[in-house]
Amino acid sequence: MKGMNPLAAPLDLLADFIRFPSISAQPSHAHDIRACAEWVRTLMDQIGLTAHLHETPGCPVVVGRNLHEAGRPTVLFYGHYDVQPVDPVALWKTSPFEAVVRDGMVYGRGSSDNKGQILAHLLGLAEGLRKGKLPVNVVVLVEGEEEVGSPHLAEFLSTHKEELACDIVVISDNPMVAPGIPTFTYAMRGVAALELTLRGPSHDLHSGMFGGIVANPLTELARLLGSLHDANRHIAVPGFYEGVPEPEPWERAAWSELPLAESDLLRMTGSPQLQGEAGYSTLERLWCRPTLEVNGLWGGYQGAGSKTVIPSEAHAKITCRIVPGQDAHRLLDLLRDYLVAQCPPSVRIEVELGHVGRPARMEVESPMAQAALRALRMSFGDKKPALIRDGATIPVVADFQKILGTDTLLLGLCYPDCGAHAPNESFPVANLDLGIKLNQALLREIAAEYKG
Ligand SMILES: [Zn+2]
Repeated sequence: MKGMNPLAAPLDLLADFIRFPSISAQPSHAHDIRACAEWVRTLMDQIGLTAHLHETPGCPVVVGRNLHEAGRPTVLFYGHYDVQPVDPVALWKTSPFEAVVRDGMVYGRGSSDNKGQILAHLLGLAEGLRKGKLPVNVVVLVEGEEEVGSPHLAEFLSTHKEELACDIVVISDNPMVAPGIPTFTYAMRGVAALELTLRGPSHDLHSGMFGGIVANPLTELARLLGSLHDANRHIAVPGFYEGVPEPEPWERAAWSELPLAESDLLRMTGSPQLQGEAGYSTLERLWCRPTLEVNGLWGGYQGAGSKTVIPSEAHAKITCRIVPGQDAHRLLDLLRDYLVAQCPPSVRIEVELGHVGRPARMEVESPMAQAALRALRMSFGDKKPALIRDGATIPVVADFQKILGTDTLLLGLCYPDCGAHAPNESFPVANLDLGIKLNQALLREIAAEYKG
């Protein structure tokens, strides 16, 4: 993309960026992935960073940096240029890869996940780089496999540990609490997955000839899954809540003031009623309590009409959201042991442990967090920033903590209803400029805070 002009209006650059169908999940888009990575590298180059495309066994990682000087803090910005598939295409009001502005939102796949934010980072650096006045050392790392679980990123961080060494990481790939409210996210839940199979008879049986004398794996699976929560919606697995801290008084107070009402969550979810663990508020359930969800459940006959069969097997997929203080691998072990112990001898159980993403948390009182809070306040017209957690997981945050020893400032710029991963994904146009200003203010505040 030779004709790229970093001085072009940010929105035009975003439209260019959105034009790449950089879908990491679909091998047919490998050339789009590469072209998009090359576009990012060129933009980094044109704003004055030294940028390289690094090969991985999967999609390339783009890394740009300014000339580092001793005695200054190093800030690492992280983003991802890959996007989710666009299916179901028929539900898009406009073409997913042609940016269209409607009612203050720019629509297009990747607009809010995460191309708009990457531009806010890069264009936030552009002016300082042009004037030779960037107050910090920066590294910008933009990967291409976030939407498929970043399978090669931890390895990349380990092998490039020295050149990625930094004092703080900045990520904006998460939502603000509500439009217009500067938002600082200081903790995220993690995730742990497993899959479960129950096998009964060696083959499907006639329910008349054999019904009543053998276990039905689907019924036993339903009983087993039903036993995972008690009547108060607490998770019934012994030891599951070990290490889970109660929400702190300041968190309860701060969250009760947020402009995020139960009616908003009802609207976003479309549920007839909200429901969760007894004894906790809706936001506490969402942000600082672990959960266990059945994500898929199958077996038996699914076709038209009825079929009088006792199926030979039944399956379920489960994931837990876990909170800081819990260990993902230990929880999977506990859950497996519980399922095995509860399973009657009339069926055989197989449990396959799946992927984990560790939870993360940073200290709100730390100098870097305080610098971020000041920058947020300045950039959003002196509005007090909301202090929130995120119920979702960005596994790389824990990787940065573990491999580089660095905390992450999570400074969201999109809204919870921006349609990330869904049709008609959008990004607030105003947050492109706001994000650029936020990143500029952030670097000034981090530089001012830095004691070496
Ligand atoms: Zn995403």
